[in-house]
Formats: sequence, C-alpha cells, structure tokens
Amino acid sequence: MIRSSVFVVIFLIISFMAKGQVDLDYYFADDVSFSPDIPTPSEILGFNVGEKHVSHDQLVRYLHILAEHSDRMTIERYGWTYEHRPLLLLTISSPENLSRIEEIRNDHLRLSDPAASANLNTREMPGIIWLGYSVHGNEPSGLNASLLVAYYLAAAQTEEIQSVLKDLVILMDPSINPDGYSRFEQWVNQYMSEVKITDPNNVEHNEAWPRGRTNHYWFDLNRDWLPVQHPESKARIDQFYKWKPNILTDHHEMGSNSTFFFQPGIPSRNNPNTPTKNMELTNRIAEYHAEALDRIGSLYFTKEQFDDFYYGKGSSYPDVNGSIGILFEQASSRGLSRQTVNGILEFPFTIRNQLTVSLSTIQAGYELKDELLSYQAEFYNETADLARNEPVKAYVFDGGKDRTKTNSLIDILLRHQIATYRLQNELSTANHRYLPEHAFIVPLAQKQFRLIQAIFERSTSFTDSLFYDVSAWTFPLAFDMTYAALTNKDYKNDLLGERLLEVPRTAGSVAARSNYAYLMDWDDYNAPKAAYMLQRYDLKVKIALKGFRTTDGRSHTPGTLLIPVQNQSMPDDRVHEIIQKTATECQIDFYAVSSGFNQDGIDLGSPNMANLEKPKIMMLVGDGVSSYEAGEVWHLLDNRFNIPVTLVDAGSIERINLDPYNTIILVSGSYSALAGVPREKLEQWVKNGGKVIGIRGGAKWLIDQKMANVKLKNTQQDTLNQRSYGDMSQHIGAQNIGGAIFETTLDLTHPLCFGYPDNTLSVFKNNRYFFEKSKNPYNTPVLYTQDPLLSGYVSADNYEYIKNSSAVIVSTLGRGKSICFSDNPNFRAFWYGTNRLFLNAIFLGDIISNSSSR
Ligand SMILES: [Zn+2]
Repeated sequence: MIRSSVFVVIFLIISFMAKGQVDLDYYFADDVSFSPDIPTPSEILGFNVGEKHVSHDQLVRYLHILAEHSDRMTIERYGWTYEHRPLLLLTISSPENLSRIEEIRNDHLRLSDPAASANLNTREMPGIIWLGYSVHGNEPSGLNASLLVAYYLAAAQTEEIQSVLKDLVILMDPSINPDGYSRFEQWVNQYMSEVKITDPNNVEHNEAWPRGRTNHYWFDLNRDWLPVQHPESKARIDQFYKWKPNILTDHHEMGSNSTFFFQPGIPSRNNPNTPTKNMELTNRIAEYHAEALDRIGSLYFTKEQFDDFYYGKGSSYPDVNGSIGILFEQASSRGLSRQTVNGILEFPFTIRNQLTVSLSTIQAGYELKDELLSYQAEFYNETADLARNEPVKAYVFDGGKDRTKTNSLIDILLRHQIATYRLQNELSTANHRYLPEHAFIVPLAQKQFRLIQAIFERSTSFTDSLFYDVSAWTFPLAFDMTYAALTNKDYKNDLLGERLLEVPRTAGSVAARSNYAYLMDWDDYNAPKAAYMLQRYDLKVKIALKGFRTTDGRSHTPGTLLIPVQNQSMPDDRVHEIIQKTATECQIDFYAVSSGFNQDGIDLGSPNMANLEKPKIMMLVGDGVSSYEAGEVWHLLDNRFNIPVTLVDAGSIERINLDPYNTIILVSGSYSALAGVPREKLEQWVKNGGKVIGIRGGAKWLIDQKMANVKLKNTQQDTLNQRSYGDMSQHIGAQNIGGAIFETTLDLTHPLCFGYPDNTLSVFKNNRYFFEKSKNPYNTPVLYTQDPLLSGYVSADNYEYIKNSSAVIVSTLGRGKSICFSDNPNFRAFWYGTNRLFLNAIFLGDIISNSSSR
C-alpha cells in the first residue's frame, strides 16, 4: 500500500519534471504567498533550483543579493577555505530582533553560565536554530535547498512566519565545505545532458577521484568538529560558541537506493556523556519531521544505521554542548536524475525533502523554544553536580620539551572553550613528576565538564560493539602526552596557575653566533620542518646516531642535528642568518658550539654523525588509492611542515623517471595500475637505493609483492557453524576494528624512534593487518605490548592478534629499503604522537643500518 503510493508520488514528480519546470510551486505549499520585492533564485540565477547544481559562486551571489533586499537577514563571511572560498553565515530573524542582535546573543550566552542563567526569563528570549548544509561536498541537496530556505525566510508573507522570526534567530551556513562541493558541482554540471540520463552507469553519476565529499586536502570535515585541524572547522567552531544554538542541523546524503533518515539514531550507541534529556528532545523534534514528510508523501526511517557516539561529527558535537544536533540523510540522485530501486530519483525531489525538514526544524524550534532554552540552562547547571560526584577532579598533562605539540593540544582545548591553566606547583604522581615549566592542568569543575571527559577519558567497556565511526579518540594519547587523572587525593585548587587565554607562543632561539657549528635537538614536533628549511636553503646537515654531552654540560640524544659552519656553500654570516630565520619560523632552539670535542659520547666529527639526506618525495594517488590517507600525508607535509610532495597518479608511473626521488609513499590502495612493468620499475628503483614507505594497505601491497620482508599473522576464520541470521550484521560488524587506541613500546635507539621522550607510544588502529614480530632482533622499533588496549572497542579474537605484534617493520631490498606501517600514523591530522614515526621514516629511513633490517 505504502509502496504504491510512493510510486504515484514519484510518477507525479516525473511527469512534472518532464516539462523542465521546477518552479517554486513544486517546493512550497499553495497557501504561502511571497513578497514580490524579494528576488527569487531564478530571477538572479536564470534557472530554477534543482534544474542544475548551483555553483558556489552563484550561491554566494544570490545570498548576498537576498540579504540586500531583505530586512530579515544579514550575511557575513566567517572564514575562508584552503582554496579561498568564503564561508558564509546568514542571521535571520525579525527586523526588531536584528536591530538588537548583539543583546540577544549575549543574553543567550548567559544560558550556559550557571551563575547568570537563573535570572533569565527564557520566555522572552528567542531560540537559536542553526541550519548547516552539505559538509560533504558531493551531497548537494542540502546546499541547493539552502537557496529555497533562505528565500522562504526572506520572502514568505504568512502570519506564522512573522511569529516564528520574532521567536527565533535562524543561523544558516549554506555550504560548510565549498571546496569539496565545487569539485562535485563541476563534475555533474560538465556532464549534464539535454535529455536526462538516469542510467547509473553514466559518467555524471560516477565522480572521479578524489571526489567531492572532502575538503581541499581530502579530509572529512564531518569528523573534524573535535580535532578542529582545518580552517573550515576552526572558523565554524568559533561561530558555534559565539551563538550556542539550541538546535543544529547537519544535512547529508546517503546511497541512492535508500529513502530519507532523520535522528534519533541507534539509541544503544549514544555517547554516555550526552544527557538523556537530549534524546527525549530529539524524539520530540523528530515528530515534526515525520509529520512534514508524511504530508509530502516521502518515505523515511529513524533509529537505524546512524549514531551519535563520536563527538567529531556535526550532529553529535552539539549534543555535548547543551544543544541538539540533528542528522539528516537523503538518498542521493548523484546528478540530476538517477534510476534507483525506488524508481527514478530526481534531484529536485531530494532538495524538496531537505527544504521540508529545514522548515520542520524551524517549526519544532519555534514550538519547543522554551523547553530548548531551559534544557540548555539545565545542561550547564548540572555540570557543578556532575563535577562534584565525579572522582576525577582534574587532568594534568606534561608536554615535556615538545612545545609545538603541547601548544597544538592547548589550541584544541581553547577552541572548545575549555579552561586550561599552567601548573602552579610541582606535582608528583605514581609515575611522573609534573613541573610547572611544561605541565598544564584542566579542572573538571567547569562548564565544559562533559566535553573534557569526552576528550580526556579512556573507555574500554561499551553497551554496543558496533560504531558508525571510531570507538576512541583520547586526545592526550593521540598527542603522546604524559598525563594523569587527578582524584581528590592529588588535586588541590592551588595547583591552578595562570589561566591560558591564548596558545603560548615561545619564540625559538639561537643561543649565540658560532664560527664552528650549531646543534638542534630532534625532540620538538617541528624538528623535521626545521630540518627541511635548513636543507631548502642548501645547508649541509648531519645527524647524530648516538648521544653526547658537550663541554658546556648539555646532553643531546640521538637524532640531534649538526650544522657545521665550515664546508657550507655560503659565508658564515649567511649560515647564521638561516639558522636564526629557521629558529624563528619553526619556534625551535639552536645551540652554538665552539668545539667538536665532547665531554661524553661521540665527538662532532664522529663517523656516527651521518649526512642527513634531503627528502625528495613522491606519493602515489589516483583511482583505487585512499584519498583520506593520501590527503593526510599531503596536508601533513605541505601544510604543516612545508615539505613538497609530488603527487603522481599511480597509473602514470610507467612513463615517469623515478631517479629524482628518494622517497615514495604508498598509502592504502589497490594499486592495480602497478601490475607488471610499473611494479618491476618500482622494485628496481628501491633496489638501486630508493626508500618506499607503505601505510596500512600500502604496506600490505608491498608485502604481497615481496618488496617487504614482513609476515602477516594468519587470522583464523570463525569456526562456529551456526548462528542466528538476525545477529549477522551485529556479529560481522563487531569483528571490525572501527578504531581503538593501543599501547606500543619503542626502541629509542632505533632511528625511527629518535626524538621520542620515552619508550611508550599510543597508536591508533582501525584495520586487521597484524605483523608478525620480525625475526631480526634489531628490527622491532615499535611493538604492541602484551596487554595493549588503552581505549576503545576490540573483539576478543582481534585482540589476541594485536598483542605482541609489530607496528612498523623495516626491510632491506638491494641497496634500498621498505618501511611498513601496519597502522595509519597520520589519522585525521590529530595523531601528533605517531606523526613523528612517519616523519622519521622520511628523514631517517636512509640511516637505518642494513643489518638491522634484513
Ligand atoms: Zn554525508
């Protein structure tokens, strides 16, 4: 019955569209009249919404014109993308509200201040609704619907809209990921045909690599709300805290054969840090979407498939901030029109659903306003009790000598409005002495209580064993930071020193000018950046393979860089100038030495001072390669370290001269294009002295091609021969490693581990590649411990494989090497701890002795 009515609806849409008309009548109910003074999208753009995909530039132009014509909205640019496209925010409300918008905003923010919220009369206050569209650039229905939502809010003449705008401030981010969207929009528009091609095989429906989902560096911005590593997220989070909306919507698309989804998601997978009341309100809001979609005959589902466990997503992050995040997923037409199991899916139909739920969100926000505002106040009022009842009182962390890494963690905390303090007094715990010079403390008795827990806590027990995304993201572990949870026993208020209002910036220094040599330690995160900068200026750089102590008593660990003043291709003054410039730009210290004779350990002219080769890096990209992993490498080297990496399509390696490169990176990928001659060429290049680095699937490919001497553990198949069919997806899903954190031990004498302050390192694992321990006793730089699970979910079977397995193995091949990583050291740009292993593989891979890697 339901089915046949759907076909009727679809049939009507098809016959409607056959006329090539999708005017406003299609999108809006008959009883809405619009002001003739407000330009419609088609009056400005020359086409109706849904007839083609609007370009980002066109969207920006229309919204600016709309804001000029309407006294109900203002528009601002709140940031820029990497490709310098503007990030826009519309503020929409009654003209009266807009005239005192700062007052409204400031009152609203007082709701999240327990000391001030009791005196507020929420009935007099507008609610704040945030509509966010198409964070995934190739999920275009939301972004295209934003044109109509904005037009409606500017032009609709009903009495109801007047009341709604009096009671609400609607913030609209029409395009969260303009760079990704623009890739997609270019693709579909360039293949648009006069006659609609609904065949899913049509090129229009099959975007080329790297596709438009991600941002410029191929990152999923819908995972970056918590790590905040990209300009889009940084700017957006600032706006989020500027407003603290009551509802935030996140409009997506899913597989073409699906229908429509709105939250609530799977109840058993809610994050325990989200209050139950949030779920109740989510259910209440859902009733509005259901009613609105029923009215237009659209099918939908809830409580399946999606969840709100990982707080790095747009629909979950608001949940840990006194707001209600709502995820929408529309079946994608992947172009203008596409065959699906439900019939032909038209682009305008997908836009209309997104428009409909945008308006039902506004309706829900309007009718539930008082409850939503009270809930927000309650959320923050509760934090004092929560903090009192929580055994952990504060987290303390020690960045050691690595200022860059420490500052990067502090940057994240401050962006999330977490009060962070310098440690006032020395503190000794069972395992560590925390010194005020480089330790920081985060007390839990503050309004971001829940978010602090979400960022610092470790969890190893879960009510569900399936996760839509990762099961763990403990930040101090990702940053390889020594840290401790302080209970009543250790915590006292006088541990809190100065509160950080901004990220500390410590200028690097050069102790003095030298006519002999300079030294630079390898213990700061920026060390590789500095090394490359020196090399870019053509300075010859050496690296100590063993430790030493200079005559002035300073100890230097293996990995210390030596820049002799003699034998450079430039005058002494210029050497000093470059060192100074590098110290400033990389915030790193250099030490001047006047003698090569050392008190202890090797001297500066020792054979254990190796030449540091300048990396010349190529990475294989293109079809079949993981754009996420490739993007993580590209972003890390290019954006963070200013190290060039040539991106080469794997299919073109056969015609490329590999000689100019000394490092080739293979992230996960099928590499079917390398079969035959290209594979031989690559192997020969390694044998001639090249260094190939394989990550996850890239490592697996090297192993399968016998270019790495690594044995994968033989994973047994489940022997139980009967299970209930209904448990299948749960059981199979639970065998995945969705992403958990494990402990490894490092061999600090191995060049891959140079610069690490101690021999334990947390690694992130989200795959089932398990390396057998190398037979060569000198070749275990990074080894999973006997009982390594630190945080997250892993099945019992998988856990056995991980224990005592190798995380990194170096193999000799002719005069060259392969370095295999079982896991991704660069995950989502916030695994600062394991980044160092990867950078060491690039810079120091060549100096690893061949007898340790056979
Ligand atoms: Zn999406």
